[in-house]
Amino acid sequence: MNPGELQGRVSFVTGASRGIGRGIALALSARGSDLVLGGRKRDDLEQVAAECETQGVRCRAIPMDLVDASSIAAWASEALKAFGRVDHLVNNAGITIDGLLLRMKREDWDRVLTVNLTGAFETTRAVLPAMVRARYGRIVNISSVVGLMGNPGQANYCAAKAGLLGFTKSLAREVASRSITVNAVAPGFIDTEMTQALQEEARDRMSGLIPLGRLGTPADVAAGVAFLLSPGAAYITGEVLNISGGLYM
Ligand code: NAD
Repeated sequence: MNPGELQGRVSFVTGASRGIGRGIALALSARGSDLVLGGRKRDDLEQVAAECETQGVRCRAIPMDLVDASSIAAWASEALKAFGRVDHLVNNAGITIDGLLLRMKREDWDRVLTVNLTGAFETTRAVLPAMVRARYGRIVNISSVVGLMGNPGQANYCAAKAGLLGFTKSLAREVASRSITVNAVAPGFIDTEMTQALQEEARDRMSGLIPLGRLGTPADVAAGVAFLLSPGAAYITGEVLNISGGLYM
């Protein structure tokens, strides 16, 4: 890690109240980036903001709900007003509502697509004009290896995560001429509340499939995100970085 390499930058991170989003916020603050944290729960966001501020960066916790486009627009506008700029957007927030397709309800399909895919579209739409004006920006979308591999019981989630990859590559081509890069990170099986909800047996079965022999941590994913935001990644765009301990290769 190169402390200070993101100094002077402002990073917007969604779903920053816990899990991978919290890990990303901590990793970016450790590298000197100021932060805007988005998510539904103000108290949890403020707790993460306080942790990040111990690194000497400025941090704002601004609640938002990805199912509500007007709340996303208000979040981005308040954040832009607070810092006057946005250098990085990390579309991290996501949900799962699992079930076999034959039993999947339309509302569960819609909600997963709305939060994981349409939410990223809305946040990106809200901040992109500022990046285009500045002729600088880095966008990282948190997808999943199951968006590449598929997974039974997750047709809605896999469709959303695969959709994010198409979104990433198309947008990368659209905005490259403005020095804006757009990449995706595809985590494997990461130890967070999302996966802690699974049965112990399913977790053990999954770990057995990972060549590196363990679940990933939020810090493992955050290190990849921080790299894509770093000066060293300036010539990388439209890429998908798998962080899965070899689960997908
Ligand atoms: P998590 O459930 O621990 O955290 C999800 C975050 O998203 C929370 O902060 C939550 O408040 C926020 N969020 C959910 N719905 C929201 C909404 N409507 N509006 C605003 N914020 C909302 O999950 P995690 O494991 O930290 O996952 C983070 C991202 O990584 C997700 O996109 C997830 O799909 C992806 N991912 C996770 C894993 C894994 O194994 N944990 C693997 C691959 C990809």
